[in-house]
Amino acid sequence: MTGYGTADETKRDGRTRIVLDVDTGIDDTLALAYLLASPEADLLGVIGVYGNVTAETAVRNNRDVLRLFGRTDVPVLHGMPRPSWADCFEVDEGCARFHGANGLGNVDPAEYIGSADGGAGEIASAGTGESGGGVGAVADSEPDGMPVPASVRMIPGEAHTFAAAGRVKSVGGYRAEGEAELEEVVAAERAVRRAEAEGVKFIVDAVRRYGREVTILATGPLTDVTAAIEAAPDIVDSLRVVMMGGALTQEGNCYDLVCETNIIQDPEAANRVFRSGADVTMVGLDVTHQCLLTRADAQVWRDAGTSRGRFLADMVEFYINANEDADPMFLAGSPLHDPLAAAVALDPTLVTCFDINMMVETRTGDGHGFRGRTIGDPTRLRKPRKTAHVALGVDSDRFVPQFRDRVASICH
Ligand code: CA
Repeated sequence: MTGYGTADETKRDGRTRIVLDVDTGIDDTLALAYLLASPEADLLGVIGVYGNVTAETAVRNNRDVLRLFGRTDVPVLHGMPRPSWADCFEVDEGCARFHGANGLGNVDPAEYIGSADGGAGEIASAGTGESGGGVGAVADSEPDGMPVPASVRMIPGEAHTFAAAGRVKSVGGYRAEGEAELEEVVAAERAVRRAEAEGVKFIVDAVRRYGREVTILATGPLTDVTAAIEAAPDIVDSLRVVMMGGALTQEGNCYDLVCETNIIQDPEAANRVFRSGADVTMVGLDVTHQCLLTRADAQVWRDAGTSRGRFLADMVEFYINANEDADPMFLAGSPLHDPLAAAVALDPTLVTCFDINMMVETRTGDGHGFRGRTIGDPTRLRKPRKTAHVALGVDSDRFVPQFRDRVASICH
């Protein structure tokens, strides 16, 4: 039971270099806010990947949130628009239910920028601008509309493989019926090229430059990370990933109650990352379901009386309502999935980990397990080196107030 490294390995000048890869929904935004509020975080760049929203929307949300908090110095990059197993992607209805059609609880950060209370002023910079040669702020683009989900082929119990021919569309991690439209596939392919040149390259460049002194913090599907490994296999030996996703001892949070939503988006990608030899800390439902944000916590941000505080409180209200509607377990509060992963990237002592070589099952059926399940890898069970560290215990009494108060500190 260890963390994922010593402080000396992960930090330099007392600060932890982070590349954040997010599918910017509500808790992703809270993770971003936490990093902005943490003086020990050196945020090199923020990559927007598909997942809770489209990649385009994730990028737009990242840019808008950074602007609201006065941190336009942080590079914003495009990540992958679709999972590795599909040709294009559509957002699932369930994600919109938890995160709103725009990923931010239908709250528009642009409306809070430049409010009379001066909420968009600069905050103390936690970054160095030392971005590893990455790309600056991206050009404005129109937000995607929220597509109406196609009918989805639900697959429990059905033996299958996703290496299918034709134009394959993912709807929230599940394969859509029929072939995708050619225009969708062409548009996705264009976006893939852009992601390879921006977000994927940014990860490769950061790891080549900083080695184990940069942490790739992935709070969405692992599609960008696996693309980086495939583009530059040399990075694996020094690649350190902290990811939100998976569940080892708890039910999943997908339709099937086995899989976790980030993993089901791209099980192949997560499996490749786990089995690559990279050092991976898994912050999954085992611990995030122990860290709950309450209405009282959100009220602390609202009480700041600023546009930033109102934005966060308004956005989180949507999330809390959605979680309460979804599961009585969340009447006690809403899970801080992505913020906990961000906090663990900065301070591994918040969690206790079980070291194990992990894998993700990619097929469903007899002899194949269940597609999307995160589990120990039987082929590496006896290997002395364990590459994954699965967080199973968490000091939520320390983390949750620290999270609330740090975020409040930038609501001025
Ligand atoms: Ca996320």
